[in-house]
Amino acid sequence: MLVVEDEPALAFRLQQVLEGAGFAVDVAYDGEDGWHLGDTEPYDAVVLDLGLPKLDGVTVLQRWREAGRAMPVLILTARSRWSEKMAGFNAGADDYVTKPFEMEEVVYRLRALIRRASGHAQPELSCGGLRLDTNTGRVTLDGVPIQLTAQEFRILSYLLHHPGRIVSRTELMEHVYDRLFESDSNSLEVLLGRVRKKIGTGMIQTVRGQGYMLTDPES
Ligand code: CA
Repeated sequence: MLVVEDEPALAFRLQQVLEGAGFAVDVAYDGEDGWHLGDTEPYDAVVLDLGLPKLDGVTVLQRWREAGRAMPVLILTARSRWSEKMAGFNAGADDYVTKPFEMEEVVYRLRALIRRASGHAQPELSCGGLRLDTNTGRVTLDGVPIQLTAQEFRILSYLLHHPGRIVSRTELMEHVYDRLFESDSNSLEVLLGRVRKKIGTGMIQTVRGQGYMLTDPES
């Protein structure tokens, strides 16, 4: 997740709440930095303030869309001015919230945007006996809740958004760790080992030289 917001206190709160909701979060404090990150890193979704130093949010969004960057973007508007929202939508925004807003609302809207962007209309994702309620972030196996750490949740959630598809090691790492986290592929293996233990062997397959794939071993 990328958060582009120049008010440090708000940026910090958003980062905390989104990390608490299971996302890996990068923060940019001006439009130029935000544009650059969104242009070069693969994000599942972006929270973009419109009033930003160096480069305004509408321009940032226009540039991303012109360059073919298609990630869902939720804009933050300072006022409930329709003209501002309309400019955001014209530039390619997917949704908006008006400041001040409930943090929970941002989380729910982002989860819905990410789910829809990966082609799922229902809030519940499943594979075999494994289910993820994307609204609450709850994961169950055969109806029994599974306790996952934040990183374990990110791995499983990402794979559940893309079942039956090979996800490369790099792609998975980018979605598990934020940009500043020092990680190596061994730590990903360790994490995957823990997730496999919790959901039962056979569901996450290692595809030699290519990556990982979530499948229902019984189908
Ligand atoms: Ca601002």
